[in-house]
Amino acid sequence: MHLARFPRIHLAHLPTPLERLDRLSEALNGPEIWIKRDDCTGLSTGGNKTRKLEFLMAEAQACEADLIITQGATQSNHARQTAAFSAKLGMECHLLLEDRTGYKEENYNHNGNVLLDLLHGATYEKRGSGLDMNAEMEAVAEEFREQGRKVYTIPGGGSNSTGALGYANCALELVAQANDRDLVIDHIVHATGSTGTQAGLVTGLKALNAQIPVYGISVRAAKEAQEENVFKLAEATADRIGCEGIVSQADVVANSDYVGEGYGLPTEAGIDAIQMFAKLEGILLDPVYSSKGAAGMIDLIRKDHFKKGERIVFLHTGGSASLFGYPSALGVPKTA
Ligand SMILES: *Cc1c(COP(=O)(O)O)cnc(C)c1O
Repeated sequence: MHLARFPRIHLAHLPTPLERLDRLSEALNGPEIWIKRDDCTGLSTGGNKTRKLEFLMAEAQACEADLIITQGATQSNHARQTAAFSAKLGMECHLLLEDRTGYKEENYNHNGNVLLDLLHGATYEKRGSGLDMNAEMEAVAEEFREQGRKVYTIPGGGSNSTGALGYANCALELVAQANDRDLVIDHIVHATGSTGTQAGLVTGLKALNAQIPVYGISVRAAKEAQEENVFKLAEATADRIGCEGIVSQADVVANSDYVGEGYGLPTEAGIDAIQMFAKLEGILLDPVYSSKGAAGMIDLIRKDHFKKGERIVFLHTGGSASLFGYPSALGVPKTA
């Protein structure tokens, strides 16, 4: 694996910090918990999509695109980071935002990531739920192309084999950090959605033969579907980096027990995790992804799946901007 062979625009603040969570580890009385701060990638409040966009936007630039189109849920962190990256490169950005939750609240529809999308100069159009959003996006892209625009489309979450290179790179970065401080990592845990993060991580770790298992906590799909989708993208990513066949089905583990009622719908355990991280560590999780990832990790520690004596790295994938889209779900008492 030699990632310098791929076009890349260096915009993320890297390496992101790797920190020990002393108070959370103590409160749970289980494994030693570390956190990889990909919420601190530096682009418009940060998050995991920035690493993917470093490779995707370099491809867009190589195609001389003048318009970037992507899609996601209303409170998409990917859409917000794409809007910001486009602004930095002087490209226009158009978003298709899917109403996956049906929430009518003003904050959900106009605050948080949506506010930031607009601040970065992006335009957007809405879609109802349940459509093939990548197909919707390609249809919109075709219309712009007919008007003579040079369009580069990015799939939901930036999850294709180009975007996943960003997480193969994160694997390299994390293992180097751990080596520097003699930290043996027993597990990596993170929220998994559109699959690029897990697929890239798993592929990068296999390419390094690091022998660190990755545990994905699904925020949407059922376990089998998620594992299948991650595996397919990991295979494609392995091909891209010249490591055909290094990832096996057994390397891809997802758990869908923490989705709750569905994508974008906060869970009680997730809200508890937000409160724990905020109050014990001063760290902001988000209601859609990292809180469900953390809720899974916390529950699996309590059930002794992750054990005392082990060291876990929780990959914080970001998303705190969407807290402002969900004020009423957060269980924070209102003051006068
Ligand atoms: C997109 C996202 C994820 C999931 O990453 P995928 O690569 O889509 O699986 C996790 N956390 C946050 C905050 C995200 O925005």
